[in-house]
Amino acid sequence: MDTASISILLVEDSPSDAKLLQQTLWHLGREKWQVVHFERLNDAVDVCSKNTFDIVLLDLSLPDSEGLSTIAEFHAAAPNIPIVVLTGFDDEDIALQAVAKKAQDYLVKGQITPNLLGRAIRYAIERGQILQQLRESEHRLRGIFEQTFQSMALLTPEGVVLEINKTAQHLWGSPQQHCVGKPLWELESWNFSSANQDWLKTIIAKAADGEFVRHELQVRGANDVMVWIDFSLKPLKDEIGKVVLLIVEGRDISDRKRAEAEIIKAWEQERELNEMKTNFVSMVSHEFRNPMTVIRTAVELLESYNQQLNDQQKNKYFGKIQTAIRQMLQLLDEILFLGRSDAGKLQYQPVLIDLAHFCSELTQTLQLSASKHQIIFNFQGKHTLVQVDENLLRYILTNLLSNAIKYSPQGGRIRFDVLCQKNTATFKIQDFGIGIPLKDQQRLFEMFHRASNVGNIPGTGLGLSIVKKCVELHQGQIQLESKVGVGTTFTIKLPLNPHGVQSLELVESCWNSHKPA
Ligand code: ATP
Ligand code: MG
Repeated sequence: MDTASISILLVEDSPSDAKLLQQTLWHLGREKWQVVHFERLNDAVDVCSKNTFDIVLLDLSLPDSEGLSTIAEFHAAAPNIPIVVLTGFDDEDIALQAVAKKAQDYLVKGQITPNLLGRAIRYAIERGQILQQLRESEHRLRGIFEQTFQSMALLTPEGVVLEINKTAQHLWGSPQQHCVGKPLWELESWNFSSANQDWLKTIIAKAADGEFVRHELQVRGANDVMVWIDFSLKPLKDEIGKVVLLIVEGRDISDRKRAEAEIIKAWEQERELNEMKTNFVSMVSHEFRNPMTVIRTAVELLESYNQQLNDQQKNKYFGKIQTAIRQMLQLLDEILFLGRSDAGKLQYQPVLIDLAHFCSELTQTLQLSASKHQIIFNFQGKHTLVQVDENLLRYILTNLLSNAIKYSPQGGRIRFDVLCQKNTATFKIQDFGIGIPLKDQQRLFEMFHRASNVGNIPGTGLGLSIVKKCVELHQGQIQLESKVGVGTTFTIKLPLNPHGVQSLELVESCWNSHKPA
């Protein structure tokens, strides 16, 4: 240490003691010291705000301050100046307490020899510098610990929290005082299941054995939201290789996990779409091939045996050709309909209709082609004039009624109930046919899905997906109740004024005023 420039602040109210000290210092070499002397603490504190000193020699009983508070006050004003306390014979206890607080050393007045003084000053300055470096280093490391975007905590090898940084407090939603002193598995973020706690105990034991552990896992974050973290436990060892601390790190990877889940979902959708396309192509070719074969066979028969066939036989083959063509046209219509709806080209276009009349006509048309069945139509409601998309509604009801007929091969009753209320129309179509197995019910509204019990009953599996699209365009709801061997009921609810069009009363008054006389 270069002693030539040591500046000493001497705070001592006794002029004789001050003089004695200065003489002792001069004895050590006058040119090595620069001494500034004050009798009062306040003056000393004032001078420190403008000047810096290498050391302070501080008497503890001053006119404006007494005892240990003198040290506290001085240290608060000049934390970087090492303090050597000056005490009387009988004050050694207080001197020891002073050293336990912020003072570097103490000297007992009357026993101060030049050597003792010189050594005390040098050691105090050195210790002060080391402490200052430690403080700076602690400040830097704490800055990193607190400011890193990683959640960090320090644990004892047994898993008890010693420190937890700000990011972890924020992510885990627990303030420092709720965490320190507790085992990690008892913190709010980790105690949501005993299985999770047990697992955490196991990996803490592994880390305490010197193993580095790393996992992607979920913890309970602030507001009880589960957060994905990249979690690691790193053992910190001393010079002889004993684990003394465990360093916990956790990086929030929720965004990455969300992105991964979205990629997987998109990938699954893509896979389903491809599967659907393959199904679609094979289904469509299959569905077209059947009627085509019928047409080809009928045409070949008509061509080859034209002379031999009588009119009745010829009409039978022409009839078959027409049915096959109708089937193909229906299939084409359905495919085109779904194509248009997928391309977003189908729009809800409401018009004013008489719902009771519309449903009754539809029933009669379908009844014509279902001689074994009896469709029982029942309409309830004060109002019959409603605004709906007539085409979409026809698709819905025709599909459901045709299914009810088709899937009751033994014939019998089919109930068709319509309830027209002010804001909602409810359509209930009930049959007593083959029913739908529970396991098939969920996927029936997807394209080409048919239940496992259809047997030889023909169908493409497109009808209900069309119904679903039409109901969605109407912002309505579909409900299905079915039991194998008992029957099936489809209930459709359509809001009658879903797109902010006029209220029913207004619609009716318009209708009345435009009605032909
Ligand atoms: P299409 O496209 O010609 O209508 P489909 O009738 O097979 O063919 P959907 O109307 O979509 O197709 O019906 C899907 C499946 O749901 C049917 O194949 C059948 O298994 C089952 N299903 C639908 N309605 C009924 C019903 N009323 N009773 C029993 N099963 C039904
Ligand atoms: Mg159908």
